[in-house]
Amino acid sequence: MPAQVDNNGMFIQGMTQPDELIKYIKARFPENEIQQAYAQMVDASKALGKDEKITPLRAFWKLLEQTYQKKAPPLQCGQGCAHCCYTGVTLTQMEWDGILNRVEEKGIDLDEIIERSQRTIKKVLEVLKSKRNIEQIDWHNLVVNQPCPFLGEDQACMVYEDRPLDCRLVVAYRDVCQSKKLEHAQRGVVVEEAIGSTVIAKLQHDQTPKFKRRKFHGTQPLRLFQHWLILWQDKKSGKKKK
Ligand code: SF4
Repeated sequence: MPAQVDNNGMFIQGMTQPDELIKYIKARFPENEIQQAYAQMVDASKALGKDEKITPLRAFWKLLEQTYQKKAPPLQCGQGCAHCCYTGVTLTQMEWDGILNRVEEKGIDLDEIIERSQRTIKKVLEVLKSKRNIEQIDWHNLVVNQPCPFLGEDQACMVYEDRPLDCRLVVAYRDVCQSKKLEHAQRGVVVEEAIGSTVIAKLQHDQTPKFKRRKFHGTQPLRLFQHWLILWQDKKSGKKKK
């Protein structure tokens, strides 16, 4: 078993080694299991969404929670432990739309969020205005060690029920957070989590009108929270979107 896996067979290097994580997932789950779980989660999310009159993405989050409860050891994470919330969080358009729904439902003031996140928003703006190739930017590291814009003063997530996949992938099953090392967070536990980003891409593809689907290339662009906030603000003020 590779060194980065703990006694429970779980990946423990967290968000610092994406290549290792992909290798780990491929070694852990056979291809047919990955394909089956993907098809099942897409269909189940759509069906549950229809039944409960919620978005397919919210239905997917519900199904993922149920899977964790059935298949994973009990979480050690508790409300108020914001250990994993001091880094960059990237998410797709569909996940951002889900956050906006929650923001509206809870009456969260996005202008206030933007105001208090100026430090990291400025960093992202600088990169966007520069001539750098944004494909090559290490977005997570750009804002690391700074609080996520949606981390409340009580150190609880303000949009917890709709938090993106990025946040759901980083969890602790043992008492390791005192070390304050993100590397100790664990991920890649269940196949339904491993195929999460492709399920979200498919749900977004299927709900996009056919004439717009040519823009899809199998994956969805990921942007930092700060980047989505900049786009939201630009849209609100009528500026042309980048
Ligand atoms: S969205 Fe919530 S869970 Fe995710 S990093 Fe931000 S505060 Fe933490």
